[in-house]
Amino acid sequence: MVVFDEKQHRCRLCGNYYSDSDMSEEHYPARNTGNEDVVAVDLGKMFDTFTSESVHAEIREKLNHGETLENITGDIFDTQLSTSLFPKGRTARTLCRKCNTFLGKYDEAYLRFFNLDGTPKSINGFQQHTKYQIIKAIYAKFLSIPEAAGEAFDFIDFIRDDDSTVYNGNWNIYFVKRDFSSDLLGMKDIRTGKITFDEGVVYELSDDKFIFNLMNFPKHSCFEMTNLFDILKKNYKLVEGVGESGGYHAQVFMSSIFNTIL
Ligand SMILES: [Zn+2]
Repeated sequence: MVVFDEKQHRCRLCGNYYSDSDMSEEHYPARNTGNEDVVAVDLGKMFDTFTSESVHAEIREKLNHGETLENITGDIFDTQLSTSLFPKGRTARTLCRKCNTFLGKYDEAYLRFFNLDGTPKSINGFQQHTKYQIIKAIYAKFLSIPEAAGEAFDFIDFIRDDDSTVYNGNWNIYFVKRDFSSDLLGMKDIRTGKITFDEGVVYELSDDKFIFNLMNFPKHSCFEMTNLFDILKKNYKLVEGVGESGGYHAQVFMSSIFNTIL
């Protein structure tokens, strides 16, 4: 006989079981960092559209009328190529209400970092405690991404203790600030993803300004990224863009496109 337990959801942070109504609807990335109305872009149609003569003619016409190319292509994206995929943003039910409320103060710390564009000069002025909260906010976000649902992370205790300053586990987070090199045609894609290497796995999570990779091995030296723990240091170096190689971001992006097509 199968007994259906009402308490079917396990919170990824505290590990306890809860019924559906005791779970929260948490945003990954945080709602106010660009995760409000997530659209899906039809990539096959995008290629057709931007190679089409009639669309070229339309673009030329609008350029002649003084519109900027950015506005024109933005318009085409909004009206022809995108459909609202997550009207309320990307959310998951992976945390209980209590844990989600607890993590809220980390999200607030991260929002301060986000609003200042992570500029090292500004972040230097933050208290160390706030910087640790920023670090924990990002580690915690990876608990909610669907690709990592089966992963047993070793940073749970580090996140659950607001005063903890020690994490000696296996998982590193590296990040870059977005720029033209990370965003195809200015599209800020905030999909999550996972890619596997011989050395281990890489998860990806991003928001409007930053791209984060969580991985259980030291990053390949050919990809230049900032270690998240470096924000604790004075004048840390903030890496912008993914460079010509495209970094992990390009690989996550490509693999998710192939998964969509196949
Ligand atoms: Zn919980």
